[in-house]
Amino acid sequence: MNHIGQDTISKNIETASPEASLLDPQKQKTLLRTMNCVGIALHSGEKVSLTLKPAEANTGVIFRRTDIPGSKEIEARWDNVVDTRMCTTIGVEEGVTISTIEHLMSALAGCGVDNVYVDVNGPEVPVMDGSAQPFVFLIECAGLQEQDALRRVIEILKPVRVEIGDKMAELVPSDTFSVSFEIDFESKVVAKQAISVNMVNGTFKKEVARARTFGFMHEVEQLRAAGLGLGGSLDNVVIIEDDKVLNEDGLRYADEFVRHKVLDAVGDLYTSGAVIRGSYKGVRAGHALTNQLLRALFANPSSWRYVESEENDDSDEAGFVTNEAEIVDLAAVSA
Ligand SMILES: [Zn+2]
Repeated sequence: MNHIGQDTISKNIETASPEASLLDPQKQKTLLRTMNCVGIALHSGEKVSLTLKPAEANTGVIFRRTDIPGSKEIEARWDNVVDTRMCTTIGVEEGVTISTIEHLMSALAGCGVDNVYVDVNGPEVPVMDGSAQPFVFLIECAGLQEQDALRRVIEILKPVRVEIGDKMAELVPSDTFSVSFEIDFESKVVAKQAISVNMVNGTFKKEVARARTFGFMHEVEQLRAAGLGLGGSLDNVVIIEDDKVLNEDGLRYADEFVRHKVLDAVGDLYTSGAVIRGSYKGVRAGHALTNQLLRALFANPSSWRYVESEENDDSDEAGFVTNEAEIVDLAAVSA
């Protein structure tokens, strides 16, 4: 495998960012200043530049292809998702798509960024180190700006579930936003892993953001043969061959694989257009199933409602701010 040099990040750390929580019952936020980074696109292998810019209240997350003059803005919404093989791809017109948005979306959700323009000069968001951490760092360097509009969250009122074969994804009512995941692979290094993360008190940043994407050596070879995954290397993917992790420094968390699935789910769920007040559970799920889950949710108006943060101002009761950081290893509990 060829190693690619470290991705570069513009550093500007004079402004410390406030601690943000996922269901912050506060005003909407955008970035304090524009930030840029350059990295490698996972599939094309080309260098791509990503710029995050402040946006007005109620803008949402808007992607723009700066290399295609006159192309339409693409809102990062579930109904603009046009492909979910390998990664999440959005687009609103033929030939103008942006792929691999999920790790950046996860960082935006995890850092509480409601409104932002994401300018990319190519068809893919750079993969950076394969996790959401470089984007979290970029957002923290930018700093957050509170805006004169209340954040609204999506409250789940009734369970919604989608299944394909042995894969399942569901959202159920809950006072907080939590994400549970179970995976089951033949390789002994992954095997069965399960985790439940309650997104309070910075758990996203501490327990989820650093988990990298992963793949198996035989898949990498197939991808390369198909002209994909050309930017993938041990610098941005955890690669497994048989029962071994090939990356020299090993894993960042013993259960990094399932934590990355949580990271992906947080990012894909943020294409709902708001943070969700409910519990997500995925079993062997992925980008496709999470997108289908959102489609099922929004097809049924009685299963959810918008709640403005004013209605949630008793943050103790809602558990948004004062709950103890909570992370449960389901495998350990049920074993
Ligand atoms: Zn991922």
